[in-house]
Amino acid sequence: MTPQLCLPIIGQTKTVRFLETWLANGTFPPLLFAGPPGVGKRTTALMLAQAANCSEPRQRPCGVCRSCRTFAQLNHPDLRLLFPIRLPKKDPETDDIAAALLARYPEFALGQAQLVTDQKLKIPIDAVRWLRTEMAKPPLQARRRFFVLLHAHQMNAEAANALLKTLEEPQVESTFILTSASPTALPATIRSRCQVVRFSAIARDTMREWLQENAGASSADAELAASVSEGSVGAALRFLDNREEFLVEPVVRYFAGQLGSNEQAVLATMEAARDASPAAVVGTLLFLYREALRLKLGGDSPYARRNPGVVERNAGRGVDYLRRAVKFLLSRSREAGLNLNARLFSYSLLTTLKPPK
Ligand SMILES: [Zn+2]
Repeated sequence: MTPQLCLPIIGQTKTVRFLETWLANGTFPPLLFAGPPGVGKRTTALMLAQAANCSEPRQRPCGVCRSCRTFAQLNHPDLRLLFPIRLPKKDPETDDIAAALLARYPEFALGQAQLVTDQKLKIPIDAVRWLRTEMAKPPLQARRRFFVLLHAHQMNAEAANALLKTLEEPQVESTFILTSASPTALPATIRSRCQVVRFSAIARDTMREWLQENAGASSADAELAASVSEGSVGAALRFLDNREEFLVEPVVRYFAGQLGSNEQAVLATMEAARDASPAAVVGTLLFLYREALRLKLGGDSPYARRNPGVVERNAGRGVDYLRRAVKFLLSRSREAGLNLNARLFSYSLLTTLKPPK
């Protein structure tokens, strides 16, 4: 009997069908999963590893067999996971990266954590060398072994070179999956060695239904989370988990005009939001300006319906101003993961966005 392959991934129908075909054929080129954060790249990589090694004869992955469970727990000896993180200096060829990862991020295996990495951290060359030695050995238990490199663009030239050599070697029993939200930051030589698989932001309706069915969200909460998350499951779950942390309250008040728009208001907002990360501040503003633009263009905003007065005042401003603001915030949000002076970052955001009188 040929097992039916079915990857339970939300909202990536075309991508998933493409991968299922490969899975059925049993041949894999190195894959580069490209797409925004939180849309299922890492989850799909792990699902693929499960499906390729599941022992259930009818439908794969079953999620319950020993192989499926150990992959899901990041505990399978034939799963090698690499990502930019500060590893202990002493033991670069540690054999237990998965265990170290799980100890630090237990939620990671459940797919609930958004692994926030410092963009300055790199995947070290030692780790890539370690991959090469691993690749030379046959798999321990799996039919097919998986090497998964998260945030693959965060690699220096030396490591990228070593990876390129690795990718050029035949991979009979191994599959490489690179994931990246900035695939163009990878060397072209690496991109051309990989089959690029695109992941897109998840549609609001799809997300709303999924959150109701799988995250136990009420219909109103699911609608709100779907609209806040801009197509990222990770962001929607974070919002449901802790919405105060997701939207920085003093920044919301500033946006709503409750503090005015003078220099004192900017300083008061910065003071009140001093514990918020640059990413949270820019994320809050980006969300609010997008909702204002949506309202202005006649669209629906569940957030504005539930929070009357927050979005409306800005939705009354010109479309050009709102578009400029969204564009500006998008460009700044790419910098928000860098080690920035949080106060300066907020100050420049708030003063640049000060709306016209
Ligand atoms: Zn299974």
